[in-house]
Amino acid sequence: MDCLFCKIAAGEIPSKPVYRDQTVLAIEDINPQAPTHILVMPVTHHANIGELSDAADGPLLAHLMEVATKLGRERGRDGYRLVMNTGEDGGQTVDHLHVHVLAGRHMTWPPG
Ligand code: 5GP
Ligand code: ZN
Repeated sequence: MDCLFCKIAAGEIPSKPVYRDQTVLAIEDINPQAPTHILVMPVTHHANIGELSDAADGPLLAHLMEVATKLGRERGRDGYRLVMNTGEDGGQTVDHLHVHVLAGRHMTWPPG
C-alpha cells in the first residue's frame, strides 16, 4: 500500500521514534507546531479514527489513547493537546490514523 506512515512503521522511510511496541508507534512530527509535537499511530493501517471505530478494535483504540496521554503527561508542562484531524474538512493530510500530541506551549482556541 502506498501509505507514508505504513512505510515509516515498516522502517522503509526514516523517522525519529519516541515510543514503539507491537501495535503502536510514536514519532516526532517533521514539521513541529509546538516544542513537543509527536504523532502516535497504530502500526496497522486504518485511514482515520472513523475506520478504527468501524473495525471495532476497542483494545487498539484504548491503547493508542493511552500512549498519547502518557506522552502528553510526560512532555507537557501543565497540560497538552491531543488532535485527530479527520478527512478533508478535518484538515487530515496523511490518511493513516494518527494522534497529534502537542505540548510545551500555551494552546489557543478556536483552532484554525
Ligand atoms: P495531518 O495533517 O494528517 O493531521 O497530520 C500529518 C502530519 O504528518 C503533519 O503534522 C506533518 O507535519 C507530518 N508529516 C508529514 N510527512 C511526514 C514525514 O515524512 N515524517 C514525519 N515524521 N512527519 C510527517
Ligand atoms: Zn498506512
